[in-house]
Amino acid sequence: MATQTVDIAPAVSKFIARTHQLLIGGRWVAPKAGKAFDVFNPATGDVLARCADGQKEDVDAAVAAARKAFESGPWPAMTVSERGKLVWKLADLLEAHLEEFAQLESLDNGKPVAVARVADVPLSVDLLRYMAGWATKIEGDTIPISVPYAPGEKFLAYTLREPVGVVGQIIPWNFPLLMAAWKLGPALAAGCTIVLKPAEQTPLSALRLGDLVCEAGFPDGVVNVVTGFGETAGAPLAAHPGVDKVAFTGSTEVGKLIVKAAAGNLKKVSLELGGKSPNIVYADADLETAIPGAASAIFFNHGQCCCAGSRLFVEKGVFDKVVDGVAAAAKKIKLGPGLNLDTDMGPLVSSEQFERVTGFLDAGRKEGAKAVCGGGSPGGKGYFVQPTVLVDTRPEMKVVREEIFGPVVAAIPFSDPEQLVRDANNTNYGLAAAVWTRDVSKAHRVAAAIRAGTVWINCFNIFDAALPFGGYKESGWGREMGHEVLKNYTEHKAVCVRL
Ligand code: ADP
Repeated sequence: MATQTVDIAPAVSKFIARTHQLLIGGRWVAPKAGKAFDVFNPATGDVLARCADGQKEDVDAAVAAARKAFESGPWPAMTVSERGKLVWKLADLLEAHLEEFAQLESLDNGKPVAVARVADVPLSVDLLRYMAGWATKIEGDTIPISVPYAPGEKFLAYTLREPVGVVGQIIPWNFPLLMAAWKLGPALAAGCTIVLKPAEQTPLSALRLGDLVCEAGFPDGVVNVVTGFGETAGAPLAAHPGVDKVAFTGSTEVGKLIVKAAAGNLKKVSLELGGKSPNIVYADADLETAIPGAASAIFFNHGQCCCAGSRLFVEKGVFDKVVDGVAAAAKKIKLGPGLNLDTDMGPLVSSEQFERVTGFLDAGRKEGAKAVCGGGSPGGKGYFVQPTVLVDTRPEMKVVREEIFGPVVAAIPFSDPEQLVRDANNTNYGLAAAVWTRDVSKAHRVAAAIRAGTVWINCFNIFDAALPFGGYKESGWGREMGHEVLKNYTEHKAVCVRL
């Protein structure tokens, strides 16, 4: 059967051909130093677009615009209902351009357009709508107080939740649009103003979203988008004394740099970082769902998920069956460019990521791990890596300890349930975990024992705008999504009145 390829929409071709600038103060402006960088199509390695290479002076201008919009003009004067309506309008506009965003995301990141159509774009729309609803519900409390040293006096005490201020948001390349929505939605609902720094590998959907922000009618300077590299645009944003809070999603390594950079003015920090999630299959699980579930837990988005189920613990009696099943699923995965409709898995995002993942595979082999399927690159153009299942690993191996961020799972047999929990928790990370079993009590016991921000039971990768997501340990600070995320973007003020 001939491969069906999606025709690139005229709006997408036109957008890609544009000379991309920076969104500062409601206008698209050239970077001050006039530099640009290439963005690549990971399916071919060819140049896809050129974007402004923002530097410190551009970050300064964007922060100044965000400060002005935070302190004066229509944004702080707006009612919370008007604010919520604007966020909802942004969601409507995004939904109206679903196909365009799905194609942009596929071209820029490499993911199958079919996945972007049903996951990345709709999840982003849904998140914005969920957060739009919160704009009118960010409430303080009235608090009865006693004040023991003021006998006979009466007080009224209440709290206000106020926007934290100017927010720097630095996002990664694995879900470029969705990460932008996760960040912008709650910050806007809370009344903050924003400087968004998308990843240099995948800036296109954030730039197009910038167009929609302008079209929706957000006041100038409420959302600013500065493209550029981590060290030259991200680092000055994280360190900027005019920024009140930095929200970061990316690697744990860079997360630690963000914390250091933020120390200068002690800006508030939230971090959603790496993971090495244990995915635990018990012998009493429904293997008909657990096996495809374990495959999708690691291979979804080419393993480029911070929560990827990259350590597959399988109870001994069913180890071979589960490993064979996951390997069989891996072998069926069709690699190809994201715009081909029969593609199950696209390329990794960049040549660096390709080198990194294949480097892990080499290291695993050298240390004695065995690939039961996949194991490297299929060859040819683009940054493709075969979905890989490793066995015969040991806990100290790099492939078991470190986040690979690619389609590579280490399958590890277990027999002792207590040792299993210790092994599952034997990681610096604590983002997510999953348990597959028919035994309800066991499922809840293990869910409680795992030190991770999310535990899925008999499922994996279930995300919802209402469900908080974030990490224990070195997987981060704070939570994304749910009403919990609003804490990242608000200050809590106590007001006390003597009556
Ligand atoms: P990866 O290593 O997978 O590319 P990173 O954590 O490096 O992921 O990148 C996530 C985001 O952090 C990107 O937008 C990147 O530009 C940015 N970034 C990288 N280094 C720094 C840094 N030193 N300071 C601030 N942001 C950075």
